[in-house]
Amino acid sequence: MSINICINGFKGRMGAVIAETATTSGHAITGKVDLGDDLNAALADSDVVIDFSFHTATRGVFESAVALGKPIICGTTGHTQEERAELLAIAAKVPTVWAGNFSIGVNLLCYLTEKAADILPLSYNAEILEMHHRMKKDAPSGTALMLAESVLGPRNLSYDDLQHGREGVPGERGEREVGMHSLRGGDVVGDHTVLFADAGERVELTHKASSREIFARGAVRAAEWVVGKSPGVYSIRDVLGLK
Ligand code: NAD
Repeated sequence: MSINICINGFKGRMGAVIAETATTSGHAITGKVDLGDDLNAALADSDVVIDFSFHTATRGVFESAVALGKPIICGTTGHTQEERAELLAIAAKVPTVWAGNFSIGVNLLCYLTEKAADILPLSYNAEILEMHHRMKKDAPSGTALMLAESVLGPRNLSYDDLQHGREGVPGERGEREVGMHSLRGGDVVGDHTVLFADAGERVELTHKASSREIFARGAVRAAEWVVGKSPGVYSIRDVLGLK
């Protein structure tokens, strides 16, 4: 079924790839919105908004979509936990798919990370590494935070257990710590590794993205899926049927 899509962040790296992917899949781009443009007018003629822009734009996008009763696909990252909680409450009023990463491979990596974090004892210290291109504006990446949640949940840990970098951290590493490390440089689309290190061995789970198309394909698939769903916030796993 062909749908009418409004893209917020149209002039960005992801906006361009999403437009191409959606058009190739037979959908129409009925809204091409970027900084300073009128989202409401463009969204009124569309079935769904796909937002890959900047974290300060998210509230406005969600409020417009709720006012117009339009489903939301959100891939924007960089929100604080407090902002995210407020935004989720708004997004729940319409059918929404919100994911820090729309690729099938990364969502499989999250699933495998949950299993490893559950099976391996805390003596297998968890560290998360991510690398992205030099223009990325937020750190750690939204994907690294998804992976962190995949470690924290099964181990009954909380966001307070995340250790961002090690500068100024005195003494030895504690077992409850989950290390987070961000690298930036060049044109890396997105590399993520979760490692579990104990004395004598370590397990490393890695995903490397070499094309933004993997995110665009997931976002367009989510847009096709979300139109006609009941209000509520869904995950990409719901879309992909990964439980
Ligand atoms: P980008 O900087 O290339 O593009 C962002 C675009 O948004 C720009 O054209 C900018 O002008 C526009 N913009 C900024 N504020 C706006 C506003 N208030 N209203 C409308 N447009 C606005 O960035 P990008 O690489 O395309 O990434 C965009 C976002 O998507 C980032 O948050 C990034 O982390 C995220 N991202 C998510 C996934 C995923 O799978 N969830 C994958 C890649 C990137």
